[in-house]
Amino acid sequence: MNFNNNNQIRVRFAPSPTGHLHIGGARTALYNWLFARGHDGVFILRIEDTDLSRSTEQAINQIMNSLRWLGLDWDEGPETGGIYGPYRQMERLDLFRSAAERLLAEGKAYYCYCTHEELEEQRRQARSQGRPVVYQGCCRNLSAEEGRLLREEGRQPVLRMKTPASGLTVVRDVIKGDVKFENAQLGDYILMRSSGVPTYNFAVSVDDATMKISHVIRGDDHLSNTPRQLLLMEALGFQPPVYAHLPLILGADRTPLSKRHGAVSVEEFRSRGFVREALCNYLALLGWSFDSDTNLFSIAELTGKFSLERVGTTAAAFDEDKLTWMNGYYIRNMPAAELAGRIVNFLPTSRLAGLPGRKGKPGVADLVPLVQEKMKTLADFIRLTDFFFLPIKFEAQSLGKLEHDANSTAILRTVSGILNGLTDFSAGHIEEELRQAAAEMEIKLGKFLQPVRIAVSGKLVTPGMFETLAVLGRQESVSRIQTTLAMLEAAQTDNKSI
Ligand code: GLU
Repeated sequence: MNFNNNNQIRVRFAPSPTGHLHIGGARTALYNWLFARGHDGVFILRIEDTDLSRSTEQAINQIMNSLRWLGLDWDEGPETGGIYGPYRQMERLDLFRSAAERLLAEGKAYYCYCTHEELEEQRRQARSQGRPVVYQGCCRNLSAEEGRLLREEGRQPVLRMKTPASGLTVVRDVIKGDVKFENAQLGDYILMRSSGVPTYNFAVSVDDATMKISHVIRGDDHLSNTPRQLLLMEALGFQPPVYAHLPLILGADRTPLSKRHGAVSVEEFRSRGFVREALCNYLALLGWSFDSDTNLFSIAELTGKFSLERVGTTAAAFDEDKLTWMNGYYIRNMPAAELAGRIVNFLPTSRLAGLPGRKGKPGVADLVPLVQEKMKTLADFIRLTDFFFLPIKFEAQSLGKLEHDANSTAILRTVSGILNGLTDFSAGHIEEELRQAAAEMEIKLGKFLQPVRIAVSGKLVTPGMFETLAVLGRQESVSRIQTTLAMLEAAQTDNKSI
């Protein structure tokens, strides 16, 4: 296939900065990035900020941060620059203006002076006569003089495209095949608003052409815009890019994924402790597959394997359980030091901020080996290790167990004595001593350790007990056991529950 003069793959991600990067947008960005990286191509970030009432600087920064966090670096775009810049549409108004003037001069576009009220009336009539509700071309053939008079009335014109009244425009889509649109249904759509700001269709067409985009890969919610963009490319004498429209992403209830379904932005998943490897892997599979049974792909594998031909045509359902499973896989398989680094970066946003590593407390790296196997998200680290840092909170169930086990007090006294006397406070040594004590008291190890677990953590489920004690250290372990013992004894003396 022949594209943009030198046959270089040039793709773009073109978000409208009106909010956080949505999962659907992230998938579009990922597919474009993978396609570029897999073909020695160029990945461009273009900010489509022509919707002035909804675009914000903050959203631009959030989107760029999310892309960077996902590892989707751009070769041309804001901050990076590039020869086809600037990369924010509001900084490209001159380009749109000169394209508009060209269309006007060549008789391919015209000024329309109809007011809102007049347009509304035209629509009403079209509906009542069963005609397509598109602009009927009232201003198509105005003379320069008529235009001047209307302007004198104070009317501010918009610029409209002269769409062919009949015939078909065919979108040759790599994923969907040929999709035909009747020109009569497209109407004479607006290119420039009266404010001088271009519409989405006009800005996209001029930008895709002037940025030498070879492939437009985007959500299929834009498919109906594509014939309008094709007509514009033709009118401007540009060679159109190859189009690939991605299937919709649905929620579990098979309606389009939206806020109603819970977390939908990359930022939300990040703050809930998902890692980029899992999110990229999962998003890659939301619409694309390599074969019927391979699920796990590193970014490098995806780059090598991704192809537009294997993108499906049916909508993909977002399955958070599968994403969570994948996240657990990547966490378990990460080198411990790498995971510790990720957790340290993650913690500042959590309620444990600043606690690990505080003087006298274990550091994240000490705890990772204890919990890595059990973690599915980075947030699980907090759930599994908070008792190392925070005052113990006894779960109601664990207190009940302590009180009802007749051996609790005896076990805690014995263990406190043993731990106090240990010179080598390693997990291995603690294990040896406690196993022996359990055997001597003729109590099964699991049962023997339960009061110890509750005494040092307040919980029924913790990381491995011997490792936990070793990380807590002798002084802290013994002191926690003693405090619990004192509480238990006081309750027994008073004959009431704790
Ligand atoms: N700015 C459009 C959006 O955020 C995307 C335009 C395109 O990819 O053509 O939906």
